[in-house]
Amino acid sequence: MVEKSEGNNCNIVVGCGISGAVIANMLATRFNEKVIIIEKKNHIAGSCFDYRDDNGICIHKYGSHIFHTNSDIVWEYLSQFSEFNSYEHRVLALIDGLEVNIPFNFNSLYQVFSKELALKLEKNLLENYDYNSKVPILELKKHEDKDLNFLADFIYKKVFLEYTKKQWGILPEEIDPSIMARVPVYIGNDNRYFQDKYQGIPIDGYTELIKKMITHPNITVMLNTDYKNIKLKYKRLFYTGSIDEFFDYKYGKLPYRSLRFEFEEYNKEFYQKTAVVNYTTSEEYTRVHEYKYYLNDKSDKTVIVKEYSEAFEEGKNERYYPIVNEKNILLYNMYLEDAKKIKNLWFLGRLGDYKYYDIDKAIIRAISLIEEIQENDKSFNNSSNL
Ligand code: UDP
Repeated sequence: MVEKSEGNNCNIVVGCGISGAVIANMLATRFNEKVIIIEKKNHIAGSCFDYRDDNGICIHKYGSHIFHTNSDIVWEYLSQFSEFNSYEHRVLALIDGLEVNIPFNFNSLYQVFSKELALKLEKNLLENYDYNSKVPILELKKHEDKDLNFLADFIYKKVFLEYTKKQWGILPEEIDPSIMARVPVYIGNDNRYFQDKYQGIPIDGYTELIKKMITHPNITVMLNTDYKNIKLKYKRLFYTGSIDEFFDYKYGKLPYRSLRFEFEEYNKEFYQKTAVVNYTTSEEYTRVHEYKYYLNDKSDKTVIVKEYSEAFEEGKNERYYPIVNEKNILLYNMYLEDAKKIKNLWFLGRLGDYKYYDIDKAIIRAISLIEEIQENDKSFNNSSNL
């Protein structure tokens, strides 16, 4: 048990997801500083949490997490804690009953159109864009060429419109353009979801990876603990929860999208051809995850999860995605201004920064924050070897 006074000389990290784990790990190992991690849930690893079920299948409790990065720094950092397999993510969309490669690319053209029309569109795309380049759908939609306009309209309606309405409750044009651009139209034949230099799944899972990061004599983890209820004194506080909650919602609530997962088990080896299938023209769920693909788990059975999107409501579900738009950023910034007035307090992570981070971007943010603090804070332990 941690005594109140113990916090005095200590770094407190609220939240034991990837952001909190990086902060704790760096403070403990590189600066020999004491850290207490306070986690509301009954497990570590935040939304990266995974576990093996009775069939030996590694389940991602909060939806598929696929690691990918172009950053050598992130790759080297994570490689200290785990090996990664060579999994490369491929996604199919079910479009009016047809299986189509996503991101929509040249192979997708031949899956949905006649060979003649596909050839014509492929040629046209190559006249307008570089091979292996990426074009956001909302950009392609603005193209004046009649055939490209037809194609953009098709992709918009069959890939993005219904899926985005399900996922966000609004139209593609109404959300931040960077979100649609995450899944661009791909001018080429690469069926992979990501083209990053490093890709894979940690071979013992994300929970084990994060456990390794935080297993250190300088780190104490308190699970099932709400920071609100203990408010330990601290030397520095790193808060990875939602900033509006920290300030008791004094300016109003920051909106989030949440997810709901429905599990099904089947007495067959595989349910679908890829780990994720997006339902872009039918069904209420957005996508189906079949987890055994990630670590190549062997079982006669398979477990799938149907993913439904819904509004976040406190007490009912969890925060998954910040809804990034001008209005919400203004609200976030009001809280941030208040945060800046409190000494030795930092917010980070998807919730703390209110940013749609991928795993690698969350890690970069946490590493940069520690480096920034180290530069400005002379009280860091001298044993620094960063
Ligand atoms: N999207 C879509 N259809 C798809 C895939 C993605 O409309 O088949 C849109 C949707 O709005 C989604 C966004 O693109 O929220 C980003 O997709 P991504 O797969 O990156 O979402 P994540 O895996 O982070 O939930």
